[in-house]
Amino acid sequence: MKVYLDNAATTPLAPEVMQEMFAVMQDKFGNPSSIHSYGREVRAMIEQSRKTIAGLFNVTPGEIIFTSGATEANNMVLRCSVRDLGVKHIISSPIEHHAVEHTLHEMENEGQVNVHWLNVDRHGCIDLNELEKLLAANENVLVSLMHANNEIGTLHPINEIGNLCRKHNAIFHSDTVQTVAHYKLNLKEIPVDFITCSAHKFHGPKGIGFLYTNNRLHLKPMITGGSQERNMRGGTENVYGIAGMTKALQLAYQQLEKEQGQISALRSYMINRLKKDFPDVEFNTDIHNESLYTVLNVSFPACDFAEMFLFNLDIQGIAASGGSACSSGSSTGSHVLNAIGADASRPAVRFSFSRYNTIEEVDYVMEKLKEMYAVKA
Ligand code: PLP
Repeated sequence: MKVYLDNAATTPLAPEVMQEMFAVMQDKFGNPSSIHSYGREVRAMIEQSRKTIAGLFNVTPGEIIFTSGATEANNMVLRCSVRDLGVKHIISSPIEHHAVEHTLHEMENEGQVNVHWLNVDRHGCIDLNELEKLLAANENVLVSLMHANNEIGTLHPINEIGNLCRKHNAIFHSDTVQTVAHYKLNLKEIPVDFITCSAHKFHGPKGIGFLYTNNRLHLKPMITGGSQERNMRGGTENVYGIAGMTKALQLAYQQLEKEQGQISALRSYMINRLKKDFPDVEFNTDIHNESLYTVLNVSFPACDFAEMFLFNLDIQGIAASGGSACSSGSSTGSHVLNAIGADASRPAVRFSFSRYNTIEEVDYVMEKLKEMYAVKA
């Protein structure tokens, strides 16, 4: 049996998305910047996609910029805010994805901006009082806090954070890669200035995402050399990617509640089986409070095969991860697990679920985990 439980790293393409992309590949090859009918047809498709996506988030089409994914979109917010909006201080957390964390370290080292790293607790939660004190003490601030953490599933309270930012006149950026298509995000109600999205996290294609940029703020392009994306990003558009991402988002939001219920139930089932079969297990995900329902990060009992843990699962056909997407396949060096003080002697595994996972798959994983401990311990 093959079981894919690494959906926070990437997801399989939905068949409906594949079909949509095939249709566009077959019929629409024009360059959207061309003025003839081939180009105009593709331009119209891109603008319709932008409109559809804007509608799903209750924003205007002009606030959606297509990018190569979330790494680019996060870079654009951080680098261009300092360059174009006079940002002098960035407040962030040590559990951000490398797309934010590494970028901030680089900008800090180059002396472009002061970065203030918030403290986090055992489950990655920040202290809003600490955030407010920093907001009160500094001017020209951008706050960059992800909505949900990709390794342990911590949900930062984006409404409260956004309200504090508005109160102190700070800009608010949230990396929403793990929550777009998994939660309803009405951006008319959430006080946020920038969010980022990556289609391959919700059964869309790789290499496409978007940046939502609130139209009260005006960034200049990070990638120059063309007037695409309303002068916000040079380069011929990823037409097939845009079509696939739009379809994937529509699908996800059509069946959001059903999927939320189904995936949450699957995760609860696994939590209960783990508690029963491994009484000594520790959950790095906060299972007692609301957390991202697609992610379950577990520290298993210490054992002499910790280094080989993911490899052993892989031999049994089970794909899981020991760190973030970028360090998939490795169980060492997670900056997130370090930040929350997870017990390093225990092998930590992230299981992450999608609409395509089943109870039978979880049963299979539990059997193989028990066998691993019975044979090797
Ligand atoms: N932010 C988070 C929270 C992620 O999980 C990922 C992917 O691992 C990214 C950013 C990067 O996204 P992309 O693969 O589109 O560059």
